Amino acid sequence: MASSQPFPSAPPRPQPGFSPSPNPNPSSTADALQTLQIGRAPPPSAAPRAASIPFSSPASRFGLSRPGPPPFASRPPTTSAPITSNGPPAFGLGASRFPPPPPVAQRPPLAGSPASIRASPQAQVSRPFTGSSPSVPPPSSQPFMGSPPSSQPFMGSPPSSQPFMGSPPSSQPYMNPPPSSQAFMGPPSSRPFAGPPSSQPFAGPPSSKPFGAPPSSQPFGGPPSSQPFGGRPSSQPFMSPTMPFPGTPASSLPFGTPSWQFQTQQGAPPMPGTMQAPPRMFGMPPNMSGQPMAPFPPVTGHSPLAGHQVSTQSKIDPNQIPRPVPSTSPTLFETRQGNQANIPPPATSDFIVKDNGNCSPRLMRCTMNQIPCTGDLLSTSSMPLALMVQPFVLPHPSEEPIQVVDFGESGPLRCSRCKGYMNPFMRFVDQGRQFICNLCGFMNETPRDYYCNLGPDGRRRDVDERPELCRGTVEFVATKEYMVRDPMPAVFFFIIDVSMNAIQTGATAAACTAINQALADLPEGPRTMVGIATFNSSIHFYNLKRASQQPLMLIVPDIQDVYTPLHTDLIVQLTECRQNLEQLLDSIPNMFENNRVAESAFGAALKAAFLAMKPTGGKLLVFQSVLPSVGIGSLYSREAEGRTNVSSGDKEAHKLLQPADKTLKTMAIEFAEYQVCVDIFLTTQMFVDIASLSVIPRTTGGQVYYYYPFSVISDPAKLYNDLRWNISRPQGFEAVMRVRCSQGLQVQGYSGNFCKRIPTDIDLPAIDCDKTIMVTFKHDDKFQEGSECAFQCALLYTTEYGQRRIRIINLSLPCTSMLSNLFRSADLDTQFTCFLKQAANGIPASPLSEVREQITNLCINILHSYRKFCATASSSGQLILPEALKLLPLYTLALVKSIGLRNDGRLDDRSYWVSRSASLSIPMAFPLVYPRMISIHDLASKEDDGSLLSATIPLSSEHINDDGIYLLENGEDGLIYVGNMVNPDTLQQLFGVSSVDGIPTQLVLQQFDNDLSKKLNDVVNETRRQRCSYLRLRLCRKGDPSGLFFLSYLVEDKIPGGLSYVEFLVHVHRQIQTKMA
Ligand SMILES: [Zn+2]
Repeated sequence: MASSQPFPSAPPRPQPGFSPSPNPNPSSTADALQTLQIGRAPPPSAAPRAASIPFSSPASRFGLSRPGPPPFASRPPTTSAPITSNGPPAFGLGASRFPPPPPVAQRPPLAGSPASIRASPQAQVSRPFTGSSPSVPPPSSQPFMGSPPSSQPFMGSPPSSQPFMGSPPSSQPYMNPPPSSQAFMGPPSSRPFAGPPSSQPFAGPPSSKPFGAPPSSQPFGGPPSSQPFGGRPSSQPFMSPTMPFPGTPASSLPFGTPSWQFQTQQGAPPMPGTMQAPPRMFGMPPNMSGQPMAPFPPVTGHSPLAGHQVSTQSKIDPNQIPRPVPSTSPTLFETRQGNQANIPPPATSDFIVKDNGNCSPRLMRCTMNQIPCTGDLLSTSSMPLALMVQPFVLPHPSEEPIQVVDFGESGPLRCSRCKGYMNPFMRFVDQGRQFICNLCGFMNETPRDYYCNLGPDGRRRDVDERPELCRGTVEFVATKEYMVRDPMPAVFFFIIDVSMNAIQTGATAAACTAINQALADLPEGPRTMVGIATFNSSIHFYNLKRASQQPLMLIVPDIQDVYTPLHTDLIVQLTECRQNLEQLLDSIPNMFENNRVAESAFGAALKAAFLAMKPTGGKLLVFQSVLPSVGIGSLYSREAEGRTNVSSGDKEAHKLLQPADKTLKTMAIEFAEYQVCVDIFLTTQMFVDIASLSVIPRTTGGQVYYYYPFSVISDPAKLYNDLRWNISRPQGFEAVMRVRCSQGLQVQGYSGNFCKRIPTDIDLPAIDCDKTIMVTFKHDDKFQEGSECAFQCALLYTTEYGQRRIRIINLSLPCTSMLSNLFRSADLDTQFTCFLKQAANGIPASPLSEVREQITNLCINILHSYRKFCATASSSGQLILPEALKLLPLYTLALVKSIGLRNDGRLDDRSYWVSRSASLSIPMAFPLVYPRMISIHDLASKEDDGSLLSATIPLSSEHINDDGIYLLENGEDGLIYVGNMVNPDTLQQLFGVSSVDGIPTQLVLQQFDNDLSKKLNDVVNETRRQRCSYLRLRLCRKGDPSGLFFLSYLVEDKIPGGLSYVEFLVHVHRQIQTKMA
């Protein structure tokens, strides 16, 4: 018998109303993020200490670094305490002061390694810590048609022989504690982000920064991430139209015929074809505006099919070309009405979903809201057919929670052939005695205890009482049949790089501090287990299970054939070892203070920790600062090689974005098999080969965090907040996912962070609210016009609270044989995110020029199809954009100019971009590619109605004034650009200085007692809330490299080697005309 209850029942996951703030999870984060010790002095332990403190030091010291609840918990202090934001990274702290480790040939002897306290499998030697002894290193006009005609449409598919998720791999051991009703991670609501301001651990005034050189003496020197100014002399004018793109071979030009490049060097890029004079180049620097106007074909979009009118005259009006328009107020979206699917609002807009049969588009969204009846029609459209699935996405606080249904011992009702789960689109017939599966068309007998007779409308009379029959998304309680073992405990294993570089740059201390504080965010109770290890050229485990005694260090020197030194006591209940662990974390930076071992046995450390976690599975959180140089999976610096190759136009250069070898991938697959999810926090000032390292998180459902160049001043706050969000966000463990669809389509592939061992399912040691999985489809049969095609995602997982659940997400869309319907119902957001992921997947596999060309062609082909089949003949000379896809050219242009697709990016920056894109959600894909920019200098005059962020500025230098200040954010970094003629009063209000030169490069954004300053802080905090990400702020100043770095984000501008937005429209138009001819 089925019963339903509001989800969640006991320990709730974040849900509407749990927080006083308007948007529970994000805002909780935001509360967290906004007060995050922004601008506070680094914690005492975050700097290399002058004096060593013994591990066994009195508790008073221990108290120092753990003053109370985590800073997340705090509301921002009001005016009395300045709220500050972290500034740009402390360039110069690193490389100049701390030289990178010597090459292997010059490695220092291993004298610093703890030879005296080695453990071996046979004889483990251990001893208590001895303190800091150096010896211990330690839209359609046609109505969607409803349900398919009677019984025949989906017959014929063979019964599935693979029961979905019924029997997880038998190789998994059954070795953990019994399931417990205690929360895996404690409901977020029980960790209110509402502690008193005074509890901020890092509340020290900015002036107490103990770190070295004054900020003003640090040039904004390093290439923050990727971009042009990193790769070329800063004296070169970034915007110079006459400067060829450095290092760009002709073959890698994004769009071009050979004549392109030649013409580009004339300063104005005529379009291929007959046009001789260049179009007006919007977005050019002012001194370029004197270019002659081109005779220009009208670029209009007057279409009988809702085509977008770009312009009406003989030139493109930059004010009429399509640009994103942010939504200002939330809309209500009903997923179905009158038995028809509704077209969802833009993914980036603010909306509240009412699930009445189809799932929330946040959870699952299709590239088109009508499904082509045939594969031919799909091909003709040139559009992708794919779903973006984000199974744990945060809901809007005003939405109903997902309901949980418990069918008791019989488990959820499924189709006996395809194993699809009961859903609102299964059709009951024969007085309710049978039901027809909407996925495979099979006629099932209704189980006796599920029988209900039908009403006059042909629907079951109990539909509205059964969530699985009226809601697009529902959760079923899993029965024993869905378990091969008891649900796993919550295991968190931290491993920390203590090699010389990590110690000296403060990265080790920052990691220890972050972990120490994040312990407070782990749930209380016996289900929470922790373990810790450190490593350089050897691995150091710690026996934490020694009541009222110091932890033992256990050293594993063998980094080729790794073992785990103990089979118990390395992973201990948090309640048993919290004090020991806190003390240990306080001491680690000192213990290894004099460490001169530069090597890093990263792979071996992971493997050893994995062996300890193997019986349970869990989360492995790795803090790594240097390139892994010894032991299993060691790597070498490919960066120098990469630069040489890229600049010489080597066709093989993309291979540097592939993993160096298969060692780490093999390890990762084994990790995934035992439900170990790895997250890697890269706090580094050097090349670390992210292309190789990222394979591990990607295969195990984890992610890469990248702090480059790591700054001990600005990055610890972000590190801590990232870690905190990592462990406290909604997530599931030991998960398996499968997507089913109606017969007529089949799944073509999955893309994201997971491990795939069998064709139909993906394994997810962990999956969280930020992760999105792309699922692509192809036709294997035809649909009838007017029928519906259903998609069903089933995710079997263990909740944070140790319960086994099956989350079912349903989406049923009408099928059409009309191309115009496909275009009318096209979903730009999903299609573009699909392109982004395709590009990310393609970057390591193909030469860059090919990837850019492929992405550009995707756009051109779609628009060509529309032009050819849906537009009227009278508009032959016009560029016609389908209304739903009118922004596709803009986003395509922005994509081909992204960090990942640029020749001049650092290898690691590009690899990080690829890694990040792989699991990125739709709402976060847009800012990554087309960042949001707003003006700051005039904030005070704007209405403070909560929409300060909606007044966005096009990413064009036309909109940047010398007397202005701008904030540009991409979801991860925030750049504050200051013009060179800003009113001194404005500077005074925002930064406390009256001259642009007086603003230290190491920007510390404080909150001063004026409206402008308050609003800037509000904007930064709101951005953090929306993005669920701690925005790292960097100051960019006109006239120096940081300013050029900022300008590189203005994707509508013409840049060397890249077209302006208007030019790109012209290019697209010409290409379409060529295809039409
Ligand atoms: Zn079926």
